[in-house]
Amino acid sequence: MTGHPSLNQASTEKHVNPEQQSLSLQQQFDKLQQRHTALFKLNQLSHDCEELSIFYRQVHQVIASLMTATNFYIVLYDQTLSTLEFVYHLDEKDESVQGVQPYVKFKGSKTHHVIETGQPLLATPELIGQPANANMFADVGVAGVDWLGVPLIHQDEVIGVMALQSYSETTRYQQQDLELLTFAAQHIVVALTRLQDRERLQSAVNNRTRELMQQIRQKEKSELLQESIFRISQLSNDASLDINEFYGQVHSIVGKLIDASNFFIAKYDDENKVLDFVYVYDQKSQNLTKDYQSRKLSNKYTELVIERGETVLLSQAQMQALFEQGDRSKPNAETVSWLGVPLITSGQTLGVMVIQSYKKHTQYNQQDVELLNFVSQQVTTVIKRRDAADYERQTHELLEQQVKLRTLALEEEIKQRKQAEQLLTHTASHDSLTGLPNRAVFIDLLNHAIACFKRRPERRFAVLFLDLDRFKMVNDRFGHHTGDLLLKIIAKKLGMVVREMDTVARLGGDEFVLLIEEIKSDDEVLAVAQRITDLLAKPFTLQEQPVFIGTSIGILFSDTKYDCANIMLRDADTAMYYAKEMGKGRYEVFDASMHSKIQDALSMEADIRSAIDRKQFLPFFQPIHHLTSGRVVGFEALARWQSDKHGFVFPDNFIPLAEETNLVIAIDLQIMELACLQLKHWLTNSQTDNLYVSCNLFGDHFFSTSLPDDILKILNRVGLSPKQLRIELTEGALLEDNEVVLANMYAFKQLGIKILLDDFGTGYSSLSYLHKFPIDVLKIDRSFISNVEKHVNHRAIIKTIIDLATNLKMETVGEGIENLTDAQLLQQMDCLYGQGYYFAKPMSGPDAGDYLASNRLRVNDSG
Ligand code: C2E
Ligand code: CA
Ligand code: CA
Repeated sequence: MTGHPSLNQASTEKHVNPEQQSLSLQQQFDKLQQRHTALFKLNQLSHDCEELSIFYRQVHQVIASLMTATNFYIVLYDQTLSTLEFVYHLDEKDESVQGVQPYVKFKGSKTHHVIETGQPLLATPELIGQPANANMFADVGVAGVDWLGVPLIHQDEVIGVMALQSYSETTRYQQQDLELLTFAAQHIVVALTRLQDRERLQSAVNNRTRELMQQIRQKEKSELLQESIFRISQLSNDASLDINEFYGQVHSIVGKLIDASNFFIAKYDDENKVLDFVYVYDQKSQNLTKDYQSRKLSNKYTELVIERGETVLLSQAQMQALFEQGDRSKPNAETVSWLGVPLITSGQTLGVMVIQSYKKHTQYNQQDVELLNFVSQQVTTVIKRRDAADYERQTHELLEQQVKLRTLALEEEIKQRKQAEQLLTHTASHDSLTGLPNRAVFIDLLNHAIACFKRRPERRFAVLFLDLDRFKMVNDRFGHHTGDLLLKIIAKKLGMVVREMDTVARLGGDEFVLLIEEIKSDDEVLAVAQRITDLLAKPFTLQEQPVFIGTSIGILFSDTKYDCANIMLRDADTAMYYAKEMGKGRYEVFDASMHSKIQDALSMEADIRSAIDRKQFLPFFQPIHHLTSGRVVGFEALARWQSDKHGFVFPDNFIPLAEETNLVIAIDLQIMELACLQLKHWLTNSQTDNLYVSCNLFGDHFFSTSLPDDILKILNRVGLSPKQLRIELTEGALLEDNEVVLANMYAFKQLGIKILLDDFGTGYSSLSYLHKFPIDVLKIDRSFISNVEKHVNHRAIIKTIIDLATNLKMETVGEGIENLTDAQLLQQMDCLYGQGYYFAKPMSGPDAGDYLASNRLRVNDSG
C-alpha cells in the first residue's frame, strides 16, 4: 500500500523518544536485553503457538512488558470482503469494538490510514494538529493522546493493523516503540499467517472432509435410492410375485430409505367409495384388523389424499389444526408426522400409500415426499397391472370355467343324445316288447330285397304275414301282461322256425312278418308257413293252462311288379286276411282276386251290422234223428241270412266274419230266440214236449257272465222249458280252464239246458279233459262220418269217441250222415243219434214243421 509519504516521514522525524537519549548505558543495556528477550519470546511464540487467540494475548503480554500497552488491539483486514475483524481488543474506554465490521465504517480513522498507506503511524496530538493533516482523521472512535499503529504486512499486502493507544499524557509513544511494534508485527504476521494457513488448511481439510462426507453420504443415499428404485421396478415386473409379498418387499425397501415403521397401502374402490387396507404395519395399533377394516370414505386423513388427489404431508400440529377447523377427524395423538401419497394412474385414484412416524424426531420432508412419490408410481403400476392381470385371469378363469361347464353340458347332452339316439334307433328299429326288428327295419330290408331281386331275378324271396287268431281272447281273459308274455314266446319260436338269413319282425299287436330270402322253390316257403301254422296250432301254457292261439298266414312271393315294400306288405296282409276268412289256422298265397274279396268282406261287415239291426237272420232247421227209431228228437238251428243285397247267405259266408268282429253273439241270440219261438210253435201244435232245439253258440260267448241270464230271458220270453233247449259249442271254448266258462256250463246244467260239444274229433281235442266239463252230448264231426265205410281209421276214431262218451255217460250225435250206410254203421257203433243230408238238409221253419209232422206220422206208424 502506498501514499502519504510526507506524513510518515514527518512522524519518523518528529517522534524521537527523548527518554532514549537520557538513559544510562546500563539502563540501555538492560532495556536492550529486555527487548531482546521479548523479541526472542515473540519470535518463539510466533513459531510455537498453536492457537491464535492465545497467541494474540501472549503477544499483548510481551508488548506490555516493553511499553505501556493498556489499550491494545489487533484488527485483520479482509480486502476481498472489505471487512475489519477485531481479533484482539482491549480498551479502557471503548469495549464496543469487536467482531467483524465493515471496512467502510472506519474511513477517516487511523487504522484506515495505516491500512491505506501500509506505513506505521505514530499519531500524536502535535501531528494531528498540523494544518496539512487537518481533516485527515475524522473523529472515529474515542479520542486519546498518542496512537501507535503498525500494519501487518504479508507478501506486500496489508492484512491488518496492530495498534496501541494512550489516553494519558504520561504515556507518550516514541519512534523506538514504533520500531519495536513493527518488529512484533512481523512476528505476528508470521504466526498469524502460519496459524491462519494452518487453520485455513484445517478448515479447508475439514470442509473438504465434510464435503466429501456429504458427497459420500449423498452418493450412498442416491446409490441406495437407485438400488431401491431398481429393486422396486424389478419387483413390479415380477408377475409371479404374490401381491402381498410385493407390498412387503416395497415396505422393506422404503424402510431402508426412510422411517417406514408404520406403513400402509389402501386400495380405493371409486365405484363404491370404499377403502380397503391391503397392507398394514402400525406399531401403535392394538388391533390391526379392527383399525384397518375396509370402510366407506370418511373424514380421515387417508381420505384427504383421495379428495385432493395429491400428496399430503402433515405434522401433528397441522393435523390438529385441520381437526379444529372441523375438516378432519381427531388425529391419532401418537402421530408426529403423516405422509400420504395417492396411487394415481391416468387420473384415476387406485389407492393411497401412507407412512407415519410416532417418533418425536422423525418429521418427513420434501425428500421423503419425492421418494414416496416415486415408490407410489411403482406400486400404482403394479396394482394396475395386477388388477388387470387379476381381471384377465379372472375372466380367463371364468371363461375356462364356462368352457368347462359348457363342455360338460355338451358332453352330457351328447351322451344323453347318444343314449336317446341309441334308444331311438333301437326303438325305431326294434320292437320294445319282443326285441324283434320293427316295421321300419322290415320295410328297409324288404326294399333292399326288392332292389336285389330287380337286379338279379334269381334271388327270389317271399313275405309271410302272420296274424294270431286268438290273441285278443288271451288279452281279454288273461290280461295284457300274459298277452305280452305270449307275444314274446311266439316271437322267440318264430325265430327258431326260420333260417339264420331270414327275418322275423313284429309290426305291432299280434302281427308278425317274415322275410324269407334266397328261395329256390315256392314249396320251401309253404313249408315254413306250414311249420308255423303247426307250431301255433299247439297249445301254449299260460297261467298253467293250455291256450290255443292259432295263426293265419298270408304269403306273397317276389314279383317284378313290386317296387315298394309297403305295397308288398299290403298284399301279404290281404292274403293273411283271406286266410282268416277262409277259416283261420291256415295260410293263403296271395293272388290279385283277394283284394276284391277283402273289399267284399269289409262291406260285408257293415252289411252284417245292419242285418242284425234289421233282424235279417233266421234259423233253418236240420232234424236230429234217433238212429234206431228214426224219430226226430230235435232240430239244430242253423243261421241263414236273408239279405237284400247278397240274397240268401249261408253261415260259412258270414259267421267267420261275424266271429272276427264279435257280431256273432248278437246273431246267435237272435237265432236262438227265433228257433225257440219256432219250437214253441211246434210244441204247441203237436201237443208234445219231447222235442228240442239245438242252437250254436260262438265259443267266446261262453266267457260272458251274463250268458245264462241272457238265455233264461229268451226262454222266459218265449215260454219254453230249458229242457227243450240245447247249446252247441266247439272245443275252442273248453281249451282254457276258465272259471267263467265252467260256471256258465254248470248254470246251464242246473237249468236243465244240455250242452253239446260240436265238431268233436277235429281241432285240439284231448280226450282227457272232457271229464272236467259237464257236457251232455258229443257231436262227432262229419269229417269222420261222411262215407265212413271208406275210411277204416275213421271208424276206429268214431268207435273210440263213442266208447269214451258212453263211459262218461254222454250221448253221441253223428253229423254229416249222407247215406244209409253211414247211418247204419253209426248205429252199429252204438251212436244213438244222427243228423245229415241223408235225413234232411237244413230247412226253413215251416218246412221243418212239415218234416216233423211227417216224421211223427211215419215213426208213430212204424213204431
Ligand atoms: P255246424 O254246426 O257243424 O253245422 C252243421 C253244418 O253241416 C251245417 O252247415 C249243415 O248244413 C252241414 N251239414 C249237415 N249235414 C250235412 C251233410 O250230410 N253233409 C254236408 N256236407 N254238410 C252237412 P251250415 O248250415 O252251412 O253251417 C255251417 C256252420 O255254420 C255250422 O256248422 C256252424 O258251425 C255255423 N253255424 C250255423 N249256424 C250258426 C249259428 O246260428 N250260430 C253259430 N255260432 N254258428 C252257426
Ligand atoms: Ca252245430
Ligand atoms: Ca258241427
